[in-house]
Amino acid sequence: MKPSSFDYVRPNTLQEALELLADGTEDSKVISGGQSLVPMMNFRLARPARLVDIGRLSELEVIRTVDDRVHVGARVRHVQLQNTPLGGPLGSLLRRSAALVGHLPIRTRGTFGGSLAHSDAASEWCLLTRLLDAEITVRSIRGERVIPAAEFFVSVFTTAMEPDELLTSVALPVLPDDHRTGIAEFARRAGDFAIVAVLGDVTVSDGTVTAARIAIGGVDDKPFRSAAAEKALLGGTFGLDLLQSAAEAAADEVDPPSDAHGDAVYRRDLVRALLPRALAAGAAA
Ligand SMILES: Cc1cc2nc3c(=O)[nH]c(=O)nc-3n(C[C@H](O)[C@H](O)[C@H](O)COP(=O)(O)OP(=O)(O)OC[C@H]3O[C@@H](n4cnc5c(N)ncnc54)[C@H](O)[C@@H]3O)c2cc1C
Repeated sequence: MKPSSFDYVRPNTLQEALELLADGTEDSKVISGGQSLVPMMNFRLARPARLVDIGRLSELEVIRTVDDRVHVGARVRHVQLQNTPLGGPLGSLLRRSAALVGHLPIRTRGTFGGSLAHSDAASEWCLLTRLLDAEITVRSIRGERVIPAAEFFVSVFTTAMEPDELLTSVALPVLPDDHRTGIAEFARRAGDFAIVAVLGDVTVSDGTVTAARIAIGGVDDKPFRSAAAEKALLGGTFGLDLLQSAAEAAADEVDPPSDAHGDAVYRRDLVRALLPRALAAGAAA
């Protein structure tokens, strides 16, 4: 199918983009990489009256480290993160996660901010921002606000952003070397959205877990933080036994949906299998 007809504008500056989003034109939609929006328009699941193309806003394509935060611009493409030279456990997690987003043509066009704004609960970037308690900056002509990831994702395809707001950047914490991070996911075909994905970030001191964060995708209508798994990990001796206990706790805690891709029992089994894999052998030290 082809999309229904729409107007198209391509602002040259951020201010111009914000003014366009606020000019009262109904059903205006931002287009960035187009890798989610264009398929939705072609299927007529989205019928925006006007597209505001932010492709010329090069100031949103920058990754900057300031003190203990890495600021990722909304227009940073997946492939930039797959190739980031950023060191440490954060750099490793970004590269591994990016490699699992779609296929290369999607990664060369799709953007970090577009993924978050699209808000698919199995998206690697939605999970990573929820895992790391990222702070998401959005702008409008009314000003700027910073939304914690825990409040940003409301449900499938729904975020806390207002229609006149533009996501501009995301602040991620630099992770010291005592963190171990990792990701494991299962998709039926390479490049598909994961049926279940697990991301982890644990701090290990003298073999003991002193902090733990676990995010799971595909088990809820938004990225899910497993309080049960985090509690099971905390204070334990880091190793496969502990990871398996945490995986059991997470599998008991989640209440996954059943759909054509997998029923609830299957998704729980995937949580059990994937959580240890995310943080065991291949995990970055
Ligand atoms: C075959 C296929 C497989 C895929 N597999 C995966 C996968 O495994 N994992 C994954 O995470 N993604 C996957 N994707 C989606 C891909 O990652 C998209 O690039 C991403 O979801 C959206 O980014 P985009 O820049 O293309 O956004 P667009 O498609 O341009 O926009 C998506 C939505 O976000 C809004 N938006 C975009 N940027 C902003 C902004 N800065 N401020 C406010 N709103 C904004 C748009 O209005 C729209 O509603 C896949 C896509 C395809 C086609």
